[in-house]
Amino acid sequence: MNSVTVVGPGTVVVSFEQEPMVVTQGAVAIEKDRIIAIGTFEDLCATYPRAELLDAHGGLILPGLVNLHHHFYSALARGLDPGMPMHDFGEILKGLWWRLDRALDTQTVRLSATLSLADCIRWGCTTVFDHHASPSCLGGSLNLIADVVREAGLSAVLSYEISDRNGHEEAQAGLEENLQFASDHGKSPRLRSLLGLHASFTVSDTTLEQVSKQRPADLGIHVHLAEDQLDAKLSQERYGQTPLDRLDHFGLLDGRALLAHGVDLGRHDVSRIAESGAILIHNPESNSNNAVGRLDLEAALSLGCTVGLGTDGMSSRMLGSLRAAFLGVRAGTGDPTSGFDTVSGLLHANSRRAAQIFDEPLLGRLSEGAPADVIVIDPPAPTQVTPANVLGHLLYGVSENVVRHTIARGRILLKDFRHTTLDVGEIAAQALAASPALWERFRELDT
Ligand SMILES: [Zn+2]
Repeated sequence: MNSVTVVGPGTVVVSFEQEPMVVTQGAVAIEKDRIIAIGTFEDLCATYPRAELLDAHGGLILPGLVNLHHHFYSALARGLDPGMPMHDFGEILKGLWWRLDRALDTQTVRLSATLSLADCIRWGCTTVFDHHASPSCLGGSLNLIADVVREAGLSAVLSYEISDRNGHEEAQAGLEENLQFASDHGKSPRLRSLLGLHASFTVSDTTLEQVSKQRPADLGIHVHLAEDQLDAKLSQERYGQTPLDRLDHFGLLDGRALLAHGVDLGRHDVSRIAESGAILIHNPESNSNNAVGRLDLEAALSLGCTVGLGTDGMSSRMLGSLRAAFLGVRAGTGDPTSGFDTVSGLLHANSRRAAQIFDEPLLGRLSEGAPADVIVIDPPAPTQVTPANVLGHLLYGVSENVVRHTIARGRILLKDFRHTTLDVGEIAAQALAASPALWERFRELDT
């Protein structure tokens, strides 16, 4: 049996750095969970004559994508009518998300995760950071999701959103869930954890104090920060400090922190985030959907902030999010020369953060010794791909293309557009059968 697989021929783009190396008529050789060589298809076929061939049909061969902020639990919200007008961000949370998460049971948590992970595979994401909430089946929910992650074959960083919004007891249970999961999976090669917090305005000082005391030193937080003006308003009213001051006060603002959104931040706060080494996560589609405004990406980058990219449960399609970020910059600046420089580092920042968390320095690169996370885009690019124009291809072409193959740590999860680990037809049938009861429980809950 062959132990080496050669993926090619295609145009290999070795990373999401600016001006990455490009190999035309290229290929990637994989053995077990590692990349063992990059080169021309001809050379690799000569070097590994007995290798199995995974035909890339001339498509673009890229590193697997990383999503820094997702909510698997939102998967069954599609088509759900909240039955009430939602005029602002607070009403969206109360009318939709905080009812949906309470209505979830173990079956629908599992189904939501499976649906989202299937979409991640379909859109070439091989490492995903999930921010979970299911108050009615809280204990053990992260392990339940971890089981689905293993079945799907991806790498994931899981966290539970600690919140006092349903009372302090539940906040404590959320903290315990995070700590238990971190203790179970602290050094798993494919599963890692962060300490999830919903958002400053729903987490009390008492809870933050507990989080601060009980958090292992190497466990960063994953929190919504300044997604809307509501965060600052209610944090001030309830706790007398801004959201960022609160995180800082409790020692949670550090180089391991993931801060999702950052729409409502001043320059001073952004500078403090830059100094801390925390990463801001831009979620352009979700921000547009909630009409909360837009992260000032240009300012954040100019102030030295590291900025990554997520989808915030809106989709699992990272290249769609990249394109939305790009169009958001152009719409915001009114300058048709803007955008390229601004978004050019987002996917690379995602890879770097995932590399840090998984202790895999080469994660997100197609190079010898790197984890074999590889995707193939179809169809082939219609014009030449060069180091200088990779981003143009991603924004104007690849983001609208489909993924032919998704390989995660050497395992083929999507082969010629078909899932190999998940039965998506069966999952859709189960979801269709389970969602009416979920929606009924949703309707019965008060806002
Ligand atoms: Zn979110």
